Amino acid sequence: MQIGRFKIEQLSEGFFELHKNGDLQKIHPERLKNFREEDPLGKQSTAIGIDPLLITDGQVNILLDTGLGWGLDRNSHYKDTSNVVTNLSIFGLKPSDIHFVVLTHLHYDHAAGATYVDSGFQTTATFPNAQYILRKNEWTYALEKSQSGTQSPGAGYRLDEMYKLAAENRLHFIEKERYHLVPGIDLLLSGGHTPGHQVVRISNKNKTAFYLGDLIPTEYHLNHYAMKQMDEDPLQAKKFKTLLLKEAFNSGAILFFYHSLYRKSGKLARDERKKYVLLEE
Ligand SMILES: [Zn+2]
Repeated sequence: MQIGRFKIEQLSEGFFELHKNGDLQKIHPERLKNFREEDPLGKQSTAIGIDPLLITDGQVNILLDTGLGWGLDRNSHYKDTSNVVTNLSIFGLKPSDIHFVVLTHLHYDHAAGATYVDSGFQTTATFPNAQYILRKNEWTYALEKSQSGTQSPGAGYRLDEMYKLAAENRLHFIEKERYHLVPGIDLLLSGGHTPGHQVVRISNKNKTAFYLGDLIPTEYHLNHYAMKQMDEDPLQAKKFKTLLLKEAFNSGAILFFYHSLYRKSGKLARDERKKYVLLEE
């Protein structure tokens, strides 16, 4: 998909079953057919997609979130499955071609692919030439949560690997509410899901797109303003979401979802009850 000078590609690690204790397991797409009725899938657990975003203008390559890094570790049983690296190769890119990795927040389903364990058992940056960009308050909050052991399952931080990136000066902490990454790409502090959660606005030549992270994880969450189990600060999430959806609707922006099973992007319309719906492209 083209937004002005930017080419945007949705990468995919596939479908996962998210258990109540926070464990994630790969699931076969076949099982999704009746997942709401299937036990435990749809009852005891949830099915989610994991879809990082690649933005490129031919000169700068930007990755939004890294996925789980499924299959990247030296001992992984999933070496031949799709992950962020195999996905990049489809577009002719190597991990070393990525200049910026933007992390919406540090929950492991968004950030674990930032590193992998190499053949010498060393934690290694997956994107060796990239600056990893995240909010300073996300980092401090994640540290606090990890040290106090109060994180909720399914919204966990696994910071051991991140410390390595920090020690190597690969993490770039930002504080400005609106951070201008490159012309046409802005990182907007949303808070809500976590205090340092950010979304990304891509705009060029009168076209706009938003990458929503966990502020609005799927199309299904468009009209769900109260996500009390998911958001650290549901009121802040609701505030930011209301404004963002209004702007996206008025500007005809394209929305990209990280956790969708079916519709992964689209423009907004409103139905007769004024609810947001995603337009067929
Ligand atoms: Zn997530």
